[in-house]
Amino acid sequence: MPKGFVYILSAPSGTGKTTVGHRLLEEIPFLERVITATTRKPREGEKNGIDYYFLKEEEFLKKIEEGFFLEWAKVYRYYYGSPKSEVERILSQGKDALLIIDVQGAFEVKRKLPNAVSIFLLPPSMEELKRRLLGRGEREIEERLEWAKKEIPCAKHFDYVVVNDLLDRAVEEIKSIMIANRRKAAFVFDNENYRSLGFGEDILEAIKGGRCDAKKV
Ligand code: ADP
Repeated sequence: MPKGFVYILSAPSGTGKTTVGHRLLEEIPFLERVITATTRKPREGEKNGIDYYFLKEEEFLKKIEEGFFLEWAKVYRYYYGSPKSEVERILSQGKDALLIIDVQGAFEVKRKLPNAVSIFLLPPSMEELKRRLLGRGEREIEERLEWAKKEIPCAKHFDYVVVNDLLDRAVEEIKSIMIANRRKAAFVFDNENYRSLGFGEDILEAIKGGRCDAKKV
């Protein structure tokens, strides 16, 4: 089975990782979101297995024990976690998996999956971060900004850093990273991945049957 990539998209709260992540999911056909499990109640219109996997608290705690999650966290009264099985499901379809998670979760996933590609999304400035938090109607703004100041230095431990200034540009930059990974020779020639590149039968035959011989003619 062709193995895709696991992407970790992370940022301080309010930077725009959810917004950017959803745009990527709309625009990149080979990308699929890892659906989070949670103990909070479904909101109007939310569906189990589409928006979240809704679990009872005792089920969630049991799954933590069983090592079901790549990462999990308790936020206020509710648990949230990224199931390992979700990543496996996506990769087995030949797609890439996208985790949209906080900075602490990003480190946890990277520890468990060292080959995952981590992307840190930076706000253009603290002032703009404050504006976005206010725009989202958050309270405890100063506390969140203090958290952000502690998380921003973590950017240097990520594989890639992208600034979410203009949304379109941030999305394009992350798309470029994802496409570049899919053009790595090691990925292209692994199993049947080259079939999706769009070259003709003659080139396909030459690749499959040929031996590399780079002598000048
Ligand atoms: P996060 O998931 O990182 O907490 P959100 O995606 O919820 O952040 O975005 C926080 C707020 O900032 C939202 O109101 C969103 O519409 C806005 N936002 C996101 N990206 C941009 C951007 N590039 N420019 C302006 N506003 C943005």
